[in-house]
Amino acid sequence: MTRFRSIATLLISRIVWLALICMSVFVGALAWWEYRAGQQSFRLDMRQHARSSQLQLSSALWDIEPQIVRQRVAWLASLPQVGYVRVRSATTGEVFEAGDMDAADANEREPRIKLDIPVPGQTEDGVQVGLPLGVLGTLEIWESRSHYAQLMRNSIFGVVLGYVLFTILVCAVVAIVMRRQLRDPLRQISHFARSLRPNELSRPLVLQRPQRNSFDEIDLVASGFAQLQKALQSHIADLDSLVAERTAQLQLMVEEVKRLSLTDVLTGCYNRRALDERLATEIERSKRYGRALSVVFMDLDHFKRINDEYGHVTGDAVLREVALRCQGQLRSHVDWMARYGGEEFLLVLPECATQDAWQLAERLLGEIRGTALNLDGLHISVTASFGVAELQSGESMEALLERADAAMYQAKHSGRARVCLAKPQVGGGDMGQA
Ligand code: GH3
Ligand code: MG
Ligand code: MG
Repeated sequence: MTRFRSIATLLISRIVWLALICMSVFVGALAWWEYRAGQQSFRLDMRQHARSSQLQLSSALWDIEPQIVRQRVAWLASLPQVGYVRVRSATTGEVFEAGDMDAADANEREPRIKLDIPVPGQTEDGVQVGLPLGVLGTLEIWESRSHYAQLMRNSIFGVVLGYVLFTILVCAVVAIVMRRQLRDPLRQISHFARSLRPNELSRPLVLQRPQRNSFDEIDLVASGFAQLQKALQSHIADLDSLVAERTAQLQLMVEEVKRLSLTDVLTGCYNRRALDERLATEIERSKRYGRALSVVFMDLDHFKRINDEYGHVTGDAVLREVALRCQGQLRSHVDWMARYGGEEFLLVLPECATQDAWQLAERLLGEIRGTALNLDGLHISVTASFGVAELQSGESMEALLERADAAMYQAKHSGRARVCLAKPQVGGGDMGQA
């Protein structure tokens, strides 16, 4: 399947082969028929001439006029279909002959016509009319083989010529029709199919063909192609919408996963990982725009005791409730809260200076301490210690957290359930105590 061979070439070669086979068979049959017909026509023609010559030769032999015999023999031999003529006198034994003995193949074959030359006056059926019965000689005639061969050749040549011309004509018609109706449109279809891109499936297949009032196989292929394009288009559209739908679902899932990866499962606050990312961003923003930023460390007091007294499940519920209450006190979309670990939380307060942060911590302390948590019929009193620190210029996140943590520990050491302000990074002491 490596060599390109057009259908037209294949068809023409088949036609030529078929014509050759048919021609060979036909020419063979024709030759045989011509040969038989030639023999037949020779017999018919010569019977006539032989009969007329029989009378003349009879008189000439009877009257011993060899000249006339010779003339008659020469005349018979001059006929185109006659090859060789021989008259043999029965009385004198003289032989009169004319024609080409070798061409007529007279030595090899019996003569086609052989007649006795009767005594003059004797009828054809041998009834005597007045003279004694007898045979004066014999007349033998061979046909001209070359004459009949020529006739056969002419006839065969005509047939062959006719066949060849007809075959050429048929092949020319086939080539023209195949080229116009099959090759050119198929090439256009092939070119179109190869140049078609998935994003231009709506481009129609336009065939350059002569105007017709009917349709053929090429039109069927073209309409099949158009249907395939439509089906592909709708399939791609379906796939596109499916991909869009799946992408949206995936996006939601990614966002959910991201949210979960940044959220503390127990309290719903940001987790430690989110804290690191977001606080770094907040610090960066605060530094860039020169805005205040405060953080508040919150650690529940004697939380171990709650666990010990009520169990871990209740301890979890306490953590959830505390986180909920604290979040309720924050400015939405500005402040945020993260679980630093265990029962420790960090509140991040952008645009918030020390004083405001301290006030908020106080408010939270009151919120937690003021109302005993009512969980499953239990009234649990919870307090927390707070450490407040405001970001100082050039301060790192670690340093800020350290200061807030230190302030929170100071609150612990000072008796718990209170708010302590962090010491400034360079020099300075406690700025206050709740
Ligand atoms: P302090 O006032 O000094 O902070 O005392 P404390 O008992 O709160 O602190 P400590 O560090 O001794 O104990 C903290 C406890 O918090 C111990 C641990 O069992 C408990 N805890 C930490 N994480 C969780 C949690 O997710 N759920 C529960 N139920 N308890 C927790
Ligand atoms: Mg602790
Ligand atoms: Mg504690």
